[in-house]
Amino acid sequence: MSISVKIDKIISQSSPIRKMFAEGARLKALHGEESVFDFSLGNPNMPPPQKFNQVLKEIVDSCDLTDHSYLPQAGYPEVCQSVAEFISQEQDVDITEKEIFMTCGAAGALNVILKALLDPGDEVLIPTPCFVEYRFYAENHDGSVIFVPTRPDFSLDLNAMAAAISKKTKVVLLNSPNNPTGQIYSEESLLGLATLLSNKSKHLGRTLYLICDEPYRKIVYGEANVPSIFNLFKNSIIVTSYSKDLSIPGERIGFAAVNPKAEFKDDLIAAMNVTHRILGFVNAPALMQRVVGCLQGLSVDIAVYQRKRDLICSGLADAGYDFLAPAGTFYLFPKAPIKDDVRFVSELQKERILVVPGSGFNGAGYFRIAFCVDDKTIEKALPGFKRALARFR
Ligand code: PLP
Repeated sequence: MSISVKIDKIISQSSPIRKMFAEGARLKALHGEESVFDFSLGNPNMPPPQKFNQVLKEIVDSCDLTDHSYLPQAGYPEVCQSVAEFISQEQDVDITEKEIFMTCGAAGALNVILKALLDPGDEVLIPTPCFVEYRFYAENHDGSVIFVPTRPDFSLDLNAMAAAISKKTKVVLLNSPNNPTGQIYSEESLLGLATLLSNKSKHLGRTLYLICDEPYRKIVYGEANVPSIFNLFKNSIIVTSYSKDLSIPGERIGFAAVNPKAEFKDDLIAAMNVTHRILGFVNAPALMQRVVGCLQGLSVDIAVYQRKRDLICSGLADAGYDFLAPAGTFYLFPKAPIKDDVRFVSELQKERILVVPGSGFNGAGYFRIAFCVDDKTIEKALPGFKRALARFR
């Protein structure tokens, strides 16, 4: 085999998801796109807000030669400034452009930070279920991942977290609102985690960092809101992107914000300048930086996702599925009626419904529905969801 053993292992580890994609392609070729109900990808199906196109055109029309040059690794100072002003207001903190780092999406930000923080063997604690790629991001930079299960309602299990912290722990990586569960970690639990990390940090004589990955912060429903970590824990870094809330995942634009009070903050930001370059990102896309700099606070119409959430939740509740309604994101994470989530996902495929097995997210026994699809797809899929469940009752 000519590819690396390490990458070959990664490919085989993600095989349930890959198999599902392959099956989806087969079903679509056989029955036509319209007859396959694809809930497998977190690819927003809404167009970006109109203002995005308008600002993009204006910026393109006004570009001159220098607008395509290399630029500071952290991004254009005026863009960082406009992000800092927005975050200061949104999260009631005093953050400046010096603490903002524009990146190639949340994925780029996570890699830049982990490379800056991790020494070989350093441990990254991740509550599960979690986003599939986290493990690979940590391992990219010689970190070891310790998965820490959440409680049955997917809230943080602070006892499990306390037991998992060791002298090798360097980072806790959280995602809220969470992909795949759709749940938001409460302020109370984050405060508990902050206290735990401060105590452990003192005891171990080692700075522990908390990274909060928040690309779904603006996609929340009803009264739900996402607590800010900045005022709860000083050694914190927020990572986010415009992929989901502006519907522009292909544009690869996001940012990291380092808590102004973080220990070794200047060292960390200096290291991120280096890791951005040596990972080959160099800087976040110049054009998109300028566009999002003008669009702070804007998002797609969240009411549209709320309607889809209500549609799928009421349909699945009628069918008899067991699930927690998502407080945010466009994901739903129901329990499979049997232990073997991969088998239940194949059963749904017989109904031409494509979803992702929970085991792919360290959440065995569940499956993930990405409801960022047309309302019609949801409506037409509901009878199939019902039939598949009935076969196990
Ligand atoms: N983090 C989470 C929790 C995600 O769900 C995703 C994408 O689905 C990412 C990070 C990566 O997002 P981006 O497109 O901003 O790199």
